[in-house]
Amino acid sequence: MKTGLFGGTFNPVHSGHVMIATDILSCFALDGIIIIPAASPPHKTAEFMADISLRLEMTRLAFNGQPGCTVSDIETRRVGRSYTIDTVNHFRKTLPAGTDLFFIAGLDAFLELDTWKDYLALMETIPFIVITRPVPDSPEKEALKTFLSLKISDRYTFSPDKACYEHETLRPVFLYERPAIHISSTEIRERLKQGRPIRGMVPDSVEQFIKKKGLYQ
Ligand code: ATP
Repeated sequence: MKTGLFGGTFNPVHSGHVMIATDILSCFALDGIIIIPAASPPHKTAEFMADISLRLEMTRLAFNGQPGCTVSDIETRRVGRSYTIDTVNHFRKTLPAGTDLFFIAGLDAFLELDTWKDYLALMETIPFIVITRPVPDSPEKEALKTFLSLKISDRYTFSPDKACYEHETLRPVFLYERPAIHISSTEIRERLKQGRPIRGMVPDSVEQFIKKKGLYQ
C-alpha cells in the first residue's frame, strides 16, 4: 500500500489543495491520501486563523466524495503544537505494516523544512513529494537543489529517470511537476475581507460554509 500524507493549515482549504491531492494520487499510483489539517501550526501566526474545528469541517467538505482521499483529525486530538514528525510516527504505527508513506508538500513549505522539529529525523523516515513547476532549470528547481545541498545534505543527487533526489541514507525527494495553480489561502482570506468573490477558488460546499459562518470577514 502506498499512502500520501498531505499536511497544511487549510485556512481555508481551496481548490488547489484538492487538485494537488487528486493529481498526486493518480500520478504516483497511491492507494490513498490522508489530508491532515494542523491544529496549532508552529509556522503560522494565529491572526486570521479559523478555529481548527471549522478548518477541519471545511476540509472534510472539500474532499467529500474524492476517491482515495480521507481527512484526519489526528492533529486536533494532540495537546500542544502540531509537529509533522509526531504525525508521521503516528501513521507509521497505526497504518498496516508494509505501508509506504510519502509526505506531500508545496515547494514553499518544503523550503522551510530546516525550521521543522527533528527535520533530519523526518528526512530519514519518510520520502517527500514536492510540488514544482515543469520548467527545466526553473528558479524553483534551483531553489530546491540549493536548499537540499546547503540545509539538508550535499550528498543528494538528482536522478532524471525517477525525477527524484536520492541519498544513501536519507529518504528520496520526488518532484511532482505541474503548471502553477494560482490559488492560495492568503488570497482567499484577503478577498473575503474585502468582500470580493471567491467563486471557483474553493469548492462550492466550502464557499457556502464560509458564507454561512461569516468566516474571514
Ligand atoms: P497560506 O496562503 O495561508 O500560506 P496555502 O494556500 O499555502 O496557505 P496551506 O494550507 O499552507 O495553504 O497548504 C498546504 C500545502 O499545500 C503546503 O505544502 C503548500 O505548499 C501546498 N499548497 C497550497 N497551495 C498550493 C498551490 N497553489 N500550489 C502548490 N502547492 C500549494
